[in-house]
Amino acid sequence: MLDIGRDISDSDFILIGLGEEWESCEMTEELQAAYEKLRKQIENRDYFVVTTVMDGWIHKMGFDNKRIVAPCGNWNYMQCKAACCPDIWMKGEGIGEVCPKCGAPLVENTVESKPYVETGYLSQWQIYMSWLQKSLNRKLLLLELGVGFRTPTVIRWPFEKTAYLNLKSRLYRVHEKLFQIPDNLEDRGISVPVNSVEWTLSV
Ligand SMILES: [Zn+2]
Repeated sequence: MLDIGRDISDSDFILIGLGEEWESCEMTEELQAAYEKLRKQIENRDYFVVTTVMDGWIHKMGFDNKRIVAPCGNWNYMQCKAACCPDIWMKGEGIGEVCPKCGAPLVENTVESKPYVETGYLSQWQIYMSWLQKSLNRKLLLLELGVGFRTPTVIRWPFEKTAYLNLKSRLYRVHEKLFQIPDNLEDRGISVPVNSVEWTLSV
């Protein structure tokens, strides 16, 4: 029987991966409710969220920002198109349209900007790696929600590897279409073929 509530309470560590199914230009009621539900399920627990979503909404949803890493960047920040400097600027800070250092245009600070200025997430990434290290051989729940193949090296493949190596882990992979689980995870892998935002609201 699937029982996500029990799996959450039975775990020492909860790692949440959020992907494309959560990305949205605007905050809908459904999305907001899903974030709130998720947050309530894990608050006061030892959790970490890694998100490839670039809309930045999660930072306004009451999660502990010290427990979030967004390696693909954030539409709400700008960088120099030429990546001449490690600086990033929040949109609307009167920064203008060109880099104050070199005069190149400013572009959104996401992985889609090449070269990508990684300043915005690297320190959190180190914290994430240390946190993940602590979860070795401990009861780890990996909750992968709506992650497809846009950037599989960030969440999807590392989560599979972590679940494979940690015999006390469970990996939920929830996705409307890309829900397949590798065979080598045996009963640690749980595939849920449902849109992950809807699923979060339903469990
Ligand atoms: Zn520049």
